[in-house]
Amino acid sequence: MNFIETRGNDGSKSKSVQFSKAILSPLASFGGLYVPEKLPDLGIDFLAKHKESSYQELAKGVLEAFDIDIEESLIDAALERYSSFDNPNNPVPVRQVEDDLFICELYHGPTRAFKDMALQPFGVILSSLAQKRGENYLIMAATSGDTGPATLETFKNRENIKVTCLYPAGGTSDVQRLQMVTEDAPNLKVIGVEGNFDDTQEALKALLASNEFKEVLERNNTKLSAANSVNFGRIIFQTIYHIHSYLELLRKGAIELGDPIYLIVPSGNFGNALGAYYVKKAGVPIEKILIASNSNNILTDFIEYGKYDLRGRGLIQTNSPAMDILKSSNVERVLYDKFGTQRTKELMEQLNSENYYELTADELKEIQKDFGATFSSDREVEEVIKKYLENGYLMDPHTATCIKAYSEKREKMLPTVAYSTAEWTKFSPTIAKSVGFEVSSDREALNKIASKYGLKIPEKIASLYEKEIKHLKIVQKTDIMNEMIQFIEV
Ligand SMILES: *Cc1c(COP(=O)(O)O)cnc(C)c1O
Repeated sequence: MNFIETRGNDGSKSKSVQFSKAILSPLASFGGLYVPEKLPDLGIDFLAKHKESSYQELAKGVLEAFDIDIEESLIDAALERYSSFDNPNNPVPVRQVEDDLFICELYHGPTRAFKDMALQPFGVILSSLAQKRGENYLIMAATSGDTGPATLETFKNRENIKVTCLYPAGGTSDVQRLQMVTEDAPNLKVIGVEGNFDDTQEALKALLASNEFKEVLERNNTKLSAANSVNFGRIIFQTIYHIHSYLELLRKGAIELGDPIYLIVPSGNFGNALGAYYVKKAGVPIEKILIASNSNNILTDFIEYGKYDLRGRGLIQTNSPAMDILKSSNVERVLYDKFGTQRTKELMEQLNSENYYELTADELKEIQKDFGATFSSDREVEEVIKKYLENGYLMDPHTATCIKAYSEKREKMLPTVAYSTAEWTKFSPTIAKSVGFEVSSDREALNKIASKYGLKIPEKIASLYEKEIKHLKIVQKTDIMNEMIQFIEV
């Protein structure tokens, strides 16, 4: 299967590329993204065939259906990463919390957030492709919390890949910061930046636009790639668990094959939701995908009113920081799928120049065939956490935004899967606040919650406090270039 570009072709690149090319060089013409030329059929026959498959067998079936140019042994090696999750036989457990509500837990990997679902196998594939081609790649991540640890973890000690990770000093949780600064491998560099996440991203953008930096990369025979969800190599691994959720409901007897279900996705950059959209389109019986947001509710406005409006909006810091995003990259792939190249280019260009676009009434109807949306305030999130914890289920703040969509946005009372995108341990101060504990650090929150509710803190989190800090640097925005150059030139 080949990949084409959402904003059309500018003549300097191939009109259609294979998977390997789309993931090594993920930026398409005119600032667009790569999308599959067509989707495989993952409908009833596929589901019936995989009814008893393990997660890894299902994943293999999905990748085969996409017919990508990656050899089988490499696919096997990539999927082997799921065996390092808490339960190798079922890396993605689905738990029932209400009669018709199931929570699919995507956080049982090494960094305790859903980013591992895609980044773990993706890291194996990207590094192996780079090695085979004899090319060196640099991946630069700017993180507000979860992407950084998951990117470092998957690429550490891998050949032909270097990773730099910028984080806002003081802008992440203690656990997230420790996950990054204790990573010890010669191909990783972690730098704290004075300022907030916007400053960090701005610094990264300036670097990407700089000729001096380009020359340094060329001189050192290094190309740039990306590990965020603009890379289709992330998205493909984010289709699998949506099918797995459907099969788990089937196996639990909650549905019969062919019955529709709702999916609820706590969304930021819309990669997770896009995976669900592709799966729905490929034939899995999904009634609608409900998009849950926090107070940065631009996706709610887009899906409810057809308006994508950044004007006068500042980023609000919430207790679900991985969803503190206003420019949600993967919406573009849905626009392309619904309205084609010309219209996508027009809308994305308008967003760039005017910070705004609006769909027509007909276009909005198209979007609403597949999506619904709502958002929760920090207070609402805390109330949900408290209520469910009192009933014996502990969820993180991102997951908690799903519950309002569950109670208010379903048009039919169908079985529903909500996605849990992080373990509570990454956001323990918010859990503590929800249940009325006074705490002054992540560590204190972790210990208090664990002992009160009889929970175990996973070794991966508990041991962070004993590990040596390897990356001490905190720099001004203006010094980032020098730091990067030193790292690339060693
Ligand atoms: C990244 C992330 C999200 C948002 O996912 P997108 O695919 O960017 O929409 C939600 N919750 C957590 C915990 C995350 O790390």
